[in-house]
Amino acid sequence: MPPTSPTRETAHTPDHRVTTVIDWFHREARDLPWREADRTPWGVLVSEVMLQQTPVVRVLPVWREWMERWPTPRDLAHATQADAVRAWGRLGYPRRAKRLWECALVLVERHNGHVPSSREDLLALPGIGDYTAGAVRAFAFGERDIVLDTNIRRVIGRAWRAEPLPAAHQTRAERELADSLVPASAPASVAWNAGSMELGALVCTARAPKCAECPLRHDCAWIAAGSPGLDDAPRRTQAWHGTDRQVRGRIMALLRESRGPLALDEHCALDDVDADQRHRALTGLVADGLITKAADGYSL
Ligand code: SF4
Repeated sequence: MPPTSPTRETAHTPDHRVTTVIDWFHREARDLPWREADRTPWGVLVSEVMLQQTPVVRVLPVWREWMERWPTPRDLAHATQADAVRAWGRLGYPRRAKRLWECALVLVERHNGHVPSSREDLLALPGIGDYTAGAVRAFAFGERDIVLDTNIRRVIGRAWRAEPLPAAHQTRAERELADSLVPASAPASVAWNAGSMELGALVCTARAPKCAECPLRHDCAWIAAGSPGLDDAPRRTQAWHGTDRQVRGRIMALLRESRGPLALDEHCALDDVDADQRHRALTGLVADGLITKAADGYSL
């Protein structure tokens, strides 16, 4: 799906459900540091990357530590990739730490250490895709843009389309509907993006939506249709224990805590892991550039 920005031609007088969500957000929004008035575009960008696959509660302490240590892209660019990966802690998917560090280098090199506000420049940064570019434009710069994350997709899918859960991949029709809902004014569009995301995170949750508390309960297409299909919808939760991803996580944790290289091909801390799986995890992490292998063992 090519990235698109909402156009004023497609925007119209806001659907009253959009206004309802905005009003709800103004009342109920959580105080989060990357929403404060003194937030920086860099802080917003880091938060968006961290939040992509990790819940707010786990992101908060790590984000604070990063902002204290590396308040600007230039500060992170002066650190090493290993520092960034180590400071990522247990947020998971540590490729994101590597990408953020690479992103800091590019921001210094091409943008004098500043986060750009244009979609094109943002999309050219390492690890910044369509969603993150839109989120940074909206939440850091107050620009009117489309931000379609999994929470917003779920809210729109239910309240407007009577669908229990969004499909695995965005469809053109879904994108067009989302585009048409973005209010014309920039401040309202930002509040809609943030509010619908918050509603999806706190109220219209994937498996147990709290419809009785929802500001859209009297206008929700899914409720009107009798709340169909949620129990039958396939679960997309990934098994964790025993997966390659778990073994990769264990290896990263061992290396984060180690002061020197570790001979992990033989390491007793991984003795319970099948040799093939351990080898696969180690070679995968080396290939991803997250760890290095030398004669004396593996390091970040
Ligand atoms: S009423 Fe229920 S299903 Fe509809 S948007 Fe609100 S929480 Fe989601």
